[in-house]
Parts: sequence; C-alpha cells; structure tokens
Amino acid sequence: MKQLKPCNICGAEIAKYVCRNCGANVCENCYDKEKGICIRCEMH
Ligand SMILES: [Zn+2]
Ligand SMILES: [Zn+2]
Repeated sequence: MKQLKPCNICGAEIAKYVCRNCGANVCENCYDKEKGICIRCEMH
C-alpha cells in the first residue's frame, strides 16, 4: 500500500523528502537538498 503524503509546508505537492532537523514531510520545492532540511528550518 502506497501512501502519498502532502507536503507539510505548502500542502500542494506530494512530500518526497523528510527534513532531518524537524522530521517534516516536504516536497522538493520546500526542501534544501544540499542541507537536508526544509525551508522552514532554513529560515531559523
Ligand atoms: Zn512544499
Ligand atoms: Zn524542518
């Protein structure tokens, strides 16, 4: 069974990544691949 979760930040895309800082499921638009964190964490 495949479970597709929406992005925790924008809610508009399917979450493909997990932030290693806060554990949020985020889409590629809301994820910094180099840092491995979501844009929400990046702002802090
Ligand atoms: Zn997103
Ligand atoms: Zn995060």
